[in-house]
Amino acid sequence: MKRKGRIVIHTGDGKGKTTAALGTVFRALGHDQKVCVIQFIKGQGKYGERIFAEQLDNLDWHICGKGFVFNKENLDEDRKVAEEGFALAAEVIASDRYDLVVLDELTYLPVLGFLPVEKIVDTLIAKPQRLTIIITGRKAPQELIEIADTVSDITVVKHAFQQGIKAQKGVEF
Ligand code: ATP
Ligand code: MG
Repeated sequence: MKRKGRIVIHTGDGKGKTTAALGTVFRALGHDQKVCVIQFIKGQGKYGERIFAEQLDNLDWHICGKGFVFNKENLDEDRKVAEEGFALAAEVIASDRYDLVVLDELTYLPVLGFLPVEKIVDTLIAKPQRLTIIITGRKAPQELIEIADTVSDITVVKHAFQQGIKAQKGVEF
């Protein structure tokens, strides 16, 4: 039987969207599948997952962001990097070289007006059949939720940050 890939979304304000995607990456690599992670918005930073990814043969990793955009005044450069990043994502999806593609923090592109949601929808629905795509980020637009097969909305019950505990190595990055 031909494998049927899916469109999966991890959204909501709680912790676990990116790390759940990385858990799925781990799982796919265990089955010798080919995986590509594309990170939007996030800039260069010492994220443990990226450092580890360099050691893994079946995993390609691209950073298509300049750092968090909230509270920034001029977003022109961020928009350009995001658009280029999405062009790369479209190429990666259409290439049929991968079993799993993670588009981390992609939801912010339509939310910030960097990219029309229709463009994302068109790219996703034209994906190769076997490919699974995981999208993460808060505020997933309804148009994406509609075309997805699996959607998890992660809510915050508590977050250490609310008690003033700063981001910690190995847990948050
Ligand atoms: P993670 O990468 O830990 O799975 P996430 O992808 O669900 O988190 P993002 O919205 O991408 O969360 O947030 C980026 C960073 O903020 C992460 O380091 C994450 O641990 C942290 N974070 C997640 N949720 C909250 C929250 N409710 N309050 C404060 N910080 C948070
Ligand atoms: Mg995240």
